[in-house]
Amino acid sequence: MIQIYGAGVAGTYLYYLLAKKGIKANIFDTRKTPDCRCAWGFTYSEAKDLYSKIDLNLDDYILVKPKNLFVNDLVLKNKNVVIVDKLSLLSDLWSGLEFRESNSEIIVDATGAKRAFLPKIQNDRIMRTLQFLERHEKDENIFVYFERHGYAWAFPLGGEWHIGAGGAFENRLQEQIKKLREHFDFPEKGSKCSCVGEVRMLPPSKCRPFVSGKVVGVGEAIGCVSGVGEGNVPALKSAEILSESLENLEIYEKKILGEFKWLEREQKFVDSALKGRPAYHLLPMIIAFESKRLFRHSIFDFLRVFI
Ligand SMILES: Cc1cc2nc3c(=O)[nH]c(=O)nc-3n(C[C@H](O)[C@H](O)[C@H](O)COP(=O)(O)OP(=O)(O)OC[C@H]3O[C@@H](n4cnc5c(N)ncnc54)[C@H](O)[C@@H]3O)c2cc1C
Repeated sequence: MIQIYGAGVAGTYLYYLLAKKGIKANIFDTRKTPDCRCAWGFTYSEAKDLYSKIDLNLDDYILVKPKNLFVNDLVLKNKNVVIVDKLSLLSDLWSGLEFRESNSEIIVDATGAKRAFLPKIQNDRIMRTLQFLERHEKDENIFVYFERHGYAWAFPLGGEWHIGAGGAFENRLQEQIKKLREHFDFPEKGSKCSCVGEVRMLPPSKCRPFVSGKVVGVGEAIGCVSGVGEGNVPALKSAEILSESLENLEIYEKKILGEFKWLEREQKFVDSALKGRPAYHLLPMIIAFESKRLFRHSIFDFLRVFI
């Protein structure tokens, strides 16, 4: 029997993948229902393919395919990013679950930034986030106000918007959002809700061990998040890898590190940027990789934002 803790992106996906293979698992989450918190941006082709393996059609949940990404004064063409109604998606996945806890041979830590079951990471890097849900009449693009220590964003949800910020300094998040509002004309409005969050800014190699005793981690708990905080598809992919490694957990770490070399590069870049000496030699590979997956951009675009 397998016990999964955390019914977020990775935990729910793993649960249904295992069910497809006829493997019995229990799942449990401390949340009573999914909520409207940010993180609705998905890389379309990868997420569509992964979710099809549990017979879920991602197209049923797409709210918007933004045309462009605005980063400060740059405009980049969107290739593959869609905004997904993650609340409905998770609600539908949860409707087929009954939360249970049991004594099990394997415990899966799918608790995201909390990493509640694996040993704590020395020098963990958790960035705080602050987010609001607001209504604005604007063209449905993605807007980002970028600074070296973090960024503020506005993501369209089809009428409503997720407005938020994340970064190294919790006390600057309000100021980051203010700059985004001024730069892109998102006046302050009565927010339907507001919440705080956290995101782990470390690559998998810095989140070892992935396996400790009978606990094995997946998703953000083991650092499957990109340098810009993209963790949905990495969480799904890591869950798929875990589902294929359960018989032989010794190979799990190697497979994760092999799959997510791109996360290592991006997090290394973020780490050096935060320390004030960006690792520019990593840029050509980061840009080549990300312009295939997400937005059409060049090294010059990137440098204009960073320098
Ligand atoms: C503000 C913000 C915006 C983001 N935007 C994006 C985005 O646009 N696109 C993108 O790809 N990524 C985004 N991310 C990152 C992305 O949300 C995560 O990386 C991804 O959800 C990780 O999936 P996960 O399943 O590992 O963890 P989560 O989805 O965080 O799920 C963890 C689950 O564990 C549960 N839990 C916690 N502790 C316990 C416990 N002790 N016992 C049981 N359950 C527990 C939680 O309730 C939660 O349901 C964003 C993150 C933040 C904070």
